[in-house]
Amino acid sequence: MTCLYVVIPCYNEQEVLPETARRLKDKIIALTEKGMISAESRVLLVDDGSVDETWTLIRALHDVDDLFEGIKLSHNRGQQNAFLAGLQAASGKADCVITMDADLQDDIDAMDAMLASYHNGSDIVFGVRSNRDTDSFFKRHSAQGYYKVMRKMGIELVYNHADYRLMSRRALEALNEYTEVNLFLRGIVPELGFKTDVVYYKRAERFAGETKYPLKKMIALAVEGVTSFSVQPLKIISRLGILLAFLSLAGLVYALISKISGSAVSGWTTIILSIWFLGGLQLLCIGVVGTYIGRIYSEVKARPRYIIEETTWQEEEKNV
Ligand code: UDP
Ligand code: MG
Repeated sequence: MTCLYVVIPCYNEQEVLPETARRLKDKIIALTEKGMISAESRVLLVDDGSVDETWTLIRALHDVDDLFEGIKLSHNRGQQNAFLAGLQAASGKADCVITMDADLQDDIDAMDAMLASYHNGSDIVFGVRSNRDTDSFFKRHSAQGYYKVMRKMGIELVYNHADYRLMSRRALEALNEYTEVNLFLRGIVPELGFKTDVVYYKRAERFAGETKYPLKKMIALAVEGVTSFSVQPLKIISRLGILLAFLSLAGLVYALISKISGSAVSGWTTIILSIWFLGGLQLLCIGVVGTYIGRIYSEVKARPRYIIEETTWQEEEKNV
């Protein structure tokens, strides 16, 4: 029978964790009773270097109920790496894994449909939200714009899919082959191939606590998504350079004509404007190139993507 692992990254989630755990437990029991998953199924909570009581809560959950397992990362590595830590810990144990956020925004009841699709032979099932009305105006529009930009850059994302998805053992093993440090799961998973499916769900409001994705982290993830999948920005820079070269050629012709025709060149405004404009443009372009060099730098160093400080199963293994 199918052994399911539900992997959940938790960063300072003490407000929601008890409720999330309660609902997940009910769900797992219901799924087990329906015969969709085996009794060995687990909920794997990954503490992404929280500074609140999250880890204490995870330990307490595990002490009361074997259903819950936990991994504590040694410090905050971001949601994507926390997912990866959980996925890699689960691969080898689980037949399939479902990843979801801790804040109950992803509809737990969509798990039934995901598992049904898995039993029908799907290796990857994407949870796609059918609505965005619980998002702020800003988040809704920035997200939609982002998907458009990504598509223009030639990166195929599943529209309105975040990180709520099911992956089979095969898909997990394939993911393990990807050793990149700059991890953008939403881009990598669709690239894996296999038989995929989509399950729609209504995305709810965060159950409690605040978003752990402030604008800064959102932008970082967005940049990561582009730069780890596409060299399009570098091409845009080259095109911009060519365009400007032509423009300046036209400017040269204009300057020559006005000199010959003897019309006085007041000059100052044009010079100042072009200095500022070109300076800004150059900085921008250097910045884009620099971003890629930074990516290469961190890939070349190949540092570990996360470090596990503690797990709930370590001690038990020691005691055996
Ligand atoms: N998260 C994490 N590490 C981080 C930031 C977030 O593990 O550095 C987790 C967080 O605990 C939650 C999930 O990622 O389970 C999504 O975060 P959140 O709900 O705050 O993002 P939003 O839904 O607002 O985009
Ligand atoms: Mg959320």
